[in-house]
Amino acid sequence: MTTPAETLLIVEDEAQIRKFVRISLEAQGYQVLEARLGEEGLATCLASPPHLVILDLGLPDLDGMDFIRRLRAWSTLPILVLSVRASETEKIQALDAGANDYVTKPFGIGELMARIRVLLRKEERRATPSPQFTFPGLRVDLARREVEVDGSPVSLSRKEFALLSLLVAGQGQVLTHERILREVWGAGHQEDTHYLRVLVGNLRQKLGDDPMRPRFILTVQGVGYRLAV
Ligand code: CA
Repeated sequence: MTTPAETLLIVEDEAQIRKFVRISLEAQGYQVLEARLGEEGLATCLASPPHLVILDLGLPDLDGMDFIRRLRAWSTLPILVLSVRASETEKIQALDAGANDYVTKPFGIGELMARIRVLLRKEERRATPSPQFTFPGLRVDLARREVEVDGSPVSLSRKEFALLSLLVAGQGQVLTHERILREVWGAGHQEDTHYLRVLVGNLRQKLGDDPMRPRFILTVQGVGYRLAV
């Protein structure tokens, strides 16, 4: 029997498959989170990490391999890949990129459940380290929500922490204003760049980061922000 508290995230753009998997998982006592897009799935992994990710490789916004690589940059969460493409190379690529197992569509629900149970058991045996990022002068523990600058703890508000989490998970990748606004404030705030400027200002101040000579947060003029790595 499963532990009722185990949460699984399904990242899949096809509503019917999402629904089918959700109903089957819930019948087994799992909690289910859903994401239709890859970016949305990655944001969920950051905001409320599940115990396992079921990932469709063919997503409209993000290549499945990119999803795996980006998640693996900071997380050891088990990833079970759903692949329609029967090609061996693709499965090998997914495993190489860091996926733990795969099921080929169309799949039987019994097979999917069995694979999930195996992955969750393995995960249980392994002491999962909390996702930590360490950069020169900056340490961020995503699960414990701890931030240290030069060894001293820094206390952040919920939104400041959400912004910093996005930046560190991006590992130096540029995050657009729209994306940060969407992920920190939610849909419908994409235009509110003044909120973001204020939040970045507050976060910089708490991190002791001088915007004229930034150590941590770089402004990408007219586009967004990225972490200095
Ligand atoms: Ca798909």
